[in-house]
Amino acid sequence: MYKPRLFAPGPVEVPAQVLSAMARPTVHHRTPEFKEIFLRTREKLADVCCVSGEDVLILAGSGTSAFEAGFLASVPKGTKVLGIDAGKFGERWIKMASTFGYEVIDLKFDWGKVAEPERLRETLKANPDIGVVMTTHSETSTGTLHDVKALAKVVKEENPDALILVDCVTSLGATEIRPNEWRLDGVFSGSQKGLMLPPGLGFAWLSKRAWSQQNLSPSFYLDLRKERKSQTKGETAYTPAVNLIYGLETSLDMHLEEGLDNVWRRRERFNNAIIAGAKAVGCQPYAERPSPAVAALYAPEGISAPDIVKGFTKRGMRIAGGQDHAKPVMFRPSALGYLDDFDVISISVALEASLRDLGHVFEQGAAVVATMKALET
Ligand SMILES: *Cc1c(COP(=O)(O)O)cnc(C)c1O
Repeated sequence: MYKPRLFAPGPVEVPAQVLSAMARPTVHHRTPEFKEIFLRTREKLADVCCVSGEDVLILAGSGTSAFEAGFLASVPKGTKVLGIDAGKFGERWIKMASTFGYEVIDLKFDWGKVAEPERLRETLKANPDIGVVMTTHSETSTGTLHDVKALAKVVKEENPDALILVDCVTSLGATEIRPNEWRLDGVFSGSQKGLMLPPGLGFAWLSKRAWSQQNLSPSFYLDLRKERKSQTKGETAYTPAVNLIYGLETSLDMHLEEGLDNVWRRRERFNNAIIAGAKAVGCQPYAERPSPAVAALYAPEGISAPDIVKGFTKRGMRIAGGQDHAKPVMFRPSALGYLDDFDVISISVALEASLRDLGHVFEQGAAVVATMKALET
């Protein structure tokens, strides 16, 4: 029996090299042996996050744990928070901040649209007491890549003291992120997306300004300051996910060997090729500015998107559907995992087969040809 292959924006196909690295026997975490692996892995993680030599903390938890820890470590009590809300994940951080009792301004954008920096500017001008802006970089629910560099510029121009915390869960490893050059204050991610590991690790980086905040809300397990003290010495405050960290080192090596620019270019080429194939058979992209991490696509007129998802499942391929109001109309294949050109072509093959089953009329082979052509660029 074959395992259905993962073409969803997380979890993703894990490279065999990573799986075999994780199959090594578990060492005790309070040993010189683990310490060496951990310090080395942390250094490579900082390189892949484009913050070489700085602290990126590794948590046992999913991407949400990293965002929550970063938020609690940098947002003083009583701060007025602004959340950019252009999809499910933007919405999640607003819910989180409200749960902790913060006053949150919900800056809404239509799903599929990019968050406009000028609307952020207007809101910051009207509310000079906003101390923190939260945004997603790659909004996985709508397949949109927000222009975080431009958003951060607006934040720093309007209020140099305000922080900008960024959900980079599907952008890390998929597209360029320059935390210092773009003047971001928090970058958070997880293992089961662009870094091609199983779920279970969260990653958190904070700027100097974010680390210097005081009068914070309490946290215990997710206390980043405590973690930072331990992790700079090659230890962790609690028991680390030892075997996932073995796999992380292998994944980071793969990224650094290929070169980050090459990885980002390849991811964009893959995603553009999925979109080109889909357009050739009448499926339009949902996002105004597509994220290289996932292709959010409209089902053709009169075809149910959940039925397309089922068509992929029938063929042993797991893709994501749409969420909330986009569920009936959206499907989301992704090449974020360990996949190659032929795997990307197989998405178009399965799309054509699924659409044919559902009675959609199109020129046979059109998606496959368009995808192959796009892959040549
Ligand atoms: C997957 C994802 C998350 C985190 O989800 P977890 O289930 O906590 O790992 C957060 N933001 C985005 C944009 C995501 O795609």
